[in-house]
Amino acid sequence: MFQTEDMLRVFQQYRGDAVVIPGRGGRHWVNISTNETRDVPLGDPAMGGHASFGLGLALARPNEKVVLFDSEGDVLMNLGALPTIAEKAPENFYHFMLDNECYATTGGQPVPNAANVQYDVIARGSGYPAAYAFDNLEDFSNNIQQILEQPGPVFVAMKVYPEIENLPIGQRRRWQTRSRDQVIEDLKNSMGPRTA
Ligand SMILES: [Mg+2]
Repeated sequence: MFQTEDMLRVFQQYRGDAVVIPGRGGRHWVNISTNETRDVPLGDPAMGGHASFGLGLALARPNEKVVLFDSEGDVLMNLGALPTIAEKAPENFYHFMLDNECYATTGGQPVPNAANVQYDVIARGSGYPAAYAFDNLEDFSNNIQQILEQPGPVFVAMKVYPEIENLPIGQRRRWQTRSRDQVIEDLKNSMGPRTA
């Protein structure tokens, strides 16, 4: 396992001008990103929603590289997203998944069979042409450049330490620096008009 924050610092070096949906890594990414207007933090939306949003964005903007940091709880909640993404096969979509083996956002409840599920195998079985799994940061660091240079859709499962939150959601410190409306407005402005 490795820290989500450490992984994101490595990823940042190879991000280029990709549009990044930081998902459950958003609280760290907001301090690491150097290209905020191309970040799409959605806060903590309904579990399972990130992948479908990412697919829609990738299909709508085929000339933009779209990187998503999903979670294993989200993937389990919306498993149908994987074959849907594989069928549409957006070459510009990079689907990373943070696997902390629990539902950290809601207090750390266990995910079923957490230590044994092979999400890269599920992705490959769903039809993703490429899928990887990393449980140490050195392997991740050695492969991230090549992963981002290959055509998508690519799935990358990563074992990360849980960062469990127990405070009621209304009492938590907000890490978001922009409203969701502002995020979408900034993204539209940074991408310019649709050409595809
Ligand atoms: Mg989780």
